[in-house]
Amino acid sequence: MTRSITGASVVAGVVGSPVAHSLSPVIHNAWIAAAGIDAVYVPFSPPPGAFSAFIEGLRGRAICGLNVTLPFKEVGLKLADRTTERASQAGAANILLFNSDGTIGADNVDGLGLLGALAAQAPGFDPKKGPAVVLGAGGAARGAVASLLAAGAPLVRVVNRTLSRAEEIADSAGAATCAFALDQALRAFDGANVVINATSAGLASREALDLPLDATPTDCVVMDMTYRPLITPFLAQAQRLGRQTVDGLEMLVRQAEPSFEALFGRCAPPDTDVRGLCLTALEAEG
Ligand code: NAP
Repeated sequence: MTRSITGASVVAGVVGSPVAHSLSPVIHNAWIAAAGIDAVYVPFSPPPGAFSAFIEGLRGRAICGLNVTLPFKEVGLKLADRTTERASQAGAANILLFNSDGTIGADNVDGLGLLGALAAQAPGFDPKKGPAVVLGAGGAARGAVASLLAAGAPLVRVVNRTLSRAEEIADSAGAATCAFALDQALRAFDGANVVINATSAGLASREALDLPLDATPTDCVVMDMTYRPLITPFLAQAQRLGRQTVDGLEMLVRQAEPSFEALFGRCAPPDTDVRGLCLTALEAEG
């Protein structure tokens, strides 16, 4: 479908570095076309050291808002004048909204994406049923811990290569969390209801996380936030063991729904197969 950009087009986008690989423009421009709104969603990649100046220059609604991706989520939160509780808890923003009074609002809907993906691909999954294990201690892990606790997980075990970073999350998230080093992962897997890989290990050509998932209960759900490749070695191992699995692409698509609503003030059109469009884009990458 051809769309024309007009002088009145509403502009939104995604900011990251690198950003060329982002699937968010594929998702949002498909919804913009389906909704028939005069808008466009574009990628931005400010030069090194220029992220803050770039964001400051957008105050006053030069554009309506941005999704924020690696490595700007934490600094993005700090630049905002107002933050939602879930963004503060995650310590990171994945949405910045530019208000006409010159202020910037920050939100983080990655947690909604995580829970939406679990609901979509692991029907019957109940976060309240048992301990959750989160692998990693970066922004994505912090957001996952907050959303799992908010959804009623009785305990969240944070496992990280650098133990002190897992301990920091456990200290700030409260009594229902505890920290483990990576070489203690087997202990953390004991009785787990869900295991979520929120590390960047296995991303693209990086070495994958090599943890024996047979130490998890047979009804444990296994999720990987990474979606390049769609079925990571971590998910492939879980599938071989017969575990229910959830992929990171579903999380991306599910967080895009509330992002679209925040940016364009309307619900994402329900009948557009944005996951299919993303899969086509991933296949084209080879
Ligand atoms: P980050 O802040 O850079 O954190 C990376 C984490 O991975 C750290 O805990 C780091 O451990 C760990 N790690 C890196 N390499 C490792 C290795 N070889 N072995 C073990 N641990 C390793 O990144 P982030 O923002 O949290 O994002 C994490 C991942 O989630 C990324 O792949 C990102 O693309 C993905 N993500 C996906 C979605 C989605 O919608 N699907 C949303 C958000 C994030 P140390 O602390 O020891 O360095």
